[in-house]
Amino acid sequence: MLIDTHCHLDFPQFDEDREAVIKRAADNKVKYLISVGSSIESSIKSKELADKFDHIFFSVGQHPHCAEKFDKYKKDPVLKRQFESLFGSKKLVAIGEVGLDYYRNLSAKDIQKEIFRYFIGIAKKLNLVLIVHCRESEDDTYAILKDELTDFGKVVFHCFSGTQDFFDKCFGLGAMFSFTANITYPNAVKLKELVREIPLDRIMLETDSPYLPPQKYRGQRNEPSYVQLVAQEIALLKNTTFDEVSEVTTRNAERFFKLNG
Ligand SMILES: [Zn+2]
Ligand SMILES: [Zn+2]
Repeated sequence: MLIDTHCHLDFPQFDEDREAVIKRAADNKVKYLISVGSSIESSIKSKELADKFDHIFFSVGQHPHCAEKFDKYKKDPVLKRQFESLFGSKKLVAIGEVGLDYYRNLSAKDIQKEIFRYFIGIAKKLNLVLIVHCRESEDDTYAILKDELTDFGKVVFHCFSGTQDFFDKCFGLGAMFSFTANITYPNAVKLKELVREIPLDRIMLETDSPYLPPQKYRGQRNEPSYVQLVAQEIALLKNTTFDEVSEVTTRNAERFFKLNG
């Protein structure tokens, strides 16, 4: 059995056939899905999915791309109430995705940092794990996390693609790393090297669907059932079996996100 620890099931790309996508994942041995919130609205929709399906969990976050929009929510009393009500859910397993993205810089850096800290505060208060998005922002991401947390035992760097130095520091502090199907891309040479290096007990699987489809589906929509191709690639890179990768990464995700209660 596999777990897709990071997908965006609430996105409009799934509006036409969401239930079929969810079913296809289950038919392909995907035991649990975590629908990751990327805004308040997206977190609300993700909770609705988690309420509807036993095997779907959700997280609450604000993607750095739209960090600037977070202010709007705080000023809207209805949205604010809805936002606060998310935290009482038993299906809430993480805070995120949150973090810093200096690659696309769609929100001002200062606001990205402020929102990142705000959500880390929520994670600490609720004793939840944190799903971190970090792109071309390693120094600031590390500095903020180091300032806010004593260790990184409750942090997962999703769609990890950092430098060796950043990896070493985060690994040393106990972080987890999740990988998407971008490890199947022929030009992902460094990333493949990193996957070989990281012990399996620090790895979790994700799709980040609808984005980042596996190599054989490039140009198409990604979906959670393809998480098996991520497992396959990791098995290949680490010279081990698909079953070993499934078993260990599933155990990791169940423990990290406390999926079994
Ligand atoms: Zn992300
Ligand atoms: Zn994502």
